[in-house]
Amino acid sequence: MRLFRIRGGVHPEARKHLAAGQPIEDLPLPALLHVPLQQHIGTPAAPLVHRGQRVAKGDLLGHAQGAISAPVHAPTSGRIMGVGSYPAHHASGLSVRTITLQPDGQDRWRDDLAGTGDPFALEPEEITARVSAAGIVGMGGATFPAAVKLNLRQRYRLHTLVINGAECEPYLTCDDRLMREHTDQVIDGIRIMAHALGLGLAQILIAIEKNKPEALAAMSQAAASQTGIRVIGLPVRYPMGSEKHLVQALLGREIPARGLTADLGVVVHNPATAFAVHQALRLGRPLVSRVVTVSGGAIRTPRNLRVPLGTPVQHLIDHCGGFREEPTRLVSGGPMMGQPLPSTRVPIVKGCNGILALTAAETRSRPAMPCIRCASCVSACPCGLLPLEMAARTRAGDLEGAVALGLMDCVACGSCSYVCPAHIPLVQYFNFAKGEMAARGRAKQKQAETRRLAEQRTARIEAIQQAKREAMAARKREASANHKPQTPVTSTASLAEA
Ligand code: SF4
Ligand code: SF4
Repeated sequence: MRLFRIRGGVHPEARKHLAAGQPIEDLPLPALLHVPLQQHIGTPAAPLVHRGQRVAKGDLLGHAQGAISAPVHAPTSGRIMGVGSYPAHHASGLSVRTITLQPDGQDRWRDDLAGTGDPFALEPEEITARVSAAGIVGMGGATFPAAVKLNLRQRYRLHTLVINGAECEPYLTCDDRLMREHTDQVIDGIRIMAHALGLGLAQILIAIEKNKPEALAAMSQAAASQTGIRVIGLPVRYPMGSEKHLVQALLGREIPARGLTADLGVVVHNPATAFAVHQALRLGRPLVSRVVTVSGGAIRTPRNLRVPLGTPVQHLIDHCGGFREEPTRLVSGGPMMGQPLPSTRVPIVKGCNGILALTAAETRSRPAMPCIRCASCVSACPCGLLPLEMAARTRAGDLEGAVALGLMDCVACGSCSYVCPAHIPLVQYFNFAKGEMAARGRAKQKQAETRRLAEQRTARIEAIQQAKREAMAARKREASANHKPQTPVTSTASLAEA
């Protein structure tokens, strides 16, 4: 299949060899699991369990609230220790509402879980409902509830499902291993998702970077018996796995600014999401674990682990033999787009595909110097933006100016920071600016809501007072009608009688 050129991009050292040869291994259970109620974009789940309660693996711990939300389930059997605050899997180090579970060691699934032998006999709505109930979210890191994406057929004219197996971030190999070791299950999940989207097989494209030859071969072989699924080898260039750029490379069409791939009729899912869909539909199992790559120069034995959600990061590191040397940076995800973790206490969540412990040599952190206006960042930007100008506006506090230059179209890929010879942390400026703009948007919304409520209250008070005034006036009219003054005896007849 002919591929189209995308602009910009970089070639960071892949370092996938550290873990690529390690088969997926089941991580033994930790002493305690900390399951956050929010592991997705959208409203947090509401807790359904209480301290002391016994649960089986797969039991519902928290139910989804609202349209963009996902439930959470027990990653193993055991006893609920409490529902409280625990450090979030986030750079902020803030705490979030979390359910703590003490495993009983039996790892016993609930008895009534049942899949279906033929998901293709189900209506798309039924598949979407089961995916939603299983708590599946985009496992490439976006964590958007998968069922919401499968429902896009109701609002868009869809024609293509793209499976993003690019895995273009250095170090990460979890999707690679999943496609190599669970090929048939991933393909099955892909076909189920295509059915839910109302697409035929002819519109499925599985895209994998060419630096994963085993995954490419395994998926191509499995897809060969499935009419119409095409497996495509992508050139190795970061950020080929950015949804927008992947669609552009495959279809030659650019997604409009602030637009979605669905605007072009395309839905993109990750192989791990497809695997989770297979598990939910065929076995009735909710999402309670995921494959995580543990790697980086500071890790003694890099591995790919199947990890129960809620497992503290420290437990993964211990299982990999601990640190070879004290890491300079602990990262969740890849080194380009991942976020620093504040501690090894934080739990593994649905969107976490990697834990990297990076040495000083790997982080290449050096003090920033003044911009020399070399324009390397402009050449590297796959979105055609002007990173140096956006950073200058952000530094000057002119966030509106940065937005006018396309800040909101930045996919935070970090290519500009990577090539900058002055070591300016450009992407950090943009992440800060986007966070600030989002906070301002929320504050504005809150103000508008407060104003709306105040106006409603004033209108209500005015209506009550008006009603009171009208009632009083009516009472007065009635009273004056009932108490007419006595008519004086002035008729001619009366006078005559007198
Ligand atoms: S790459 Fe760095 S030094 Fe070069 S123009 Fe961009 S910000 Fe300036
Ligand atoms: S982080 Fe943003 S500005 Fe920098 S290269 Fe990527 S898309 Fe362009």
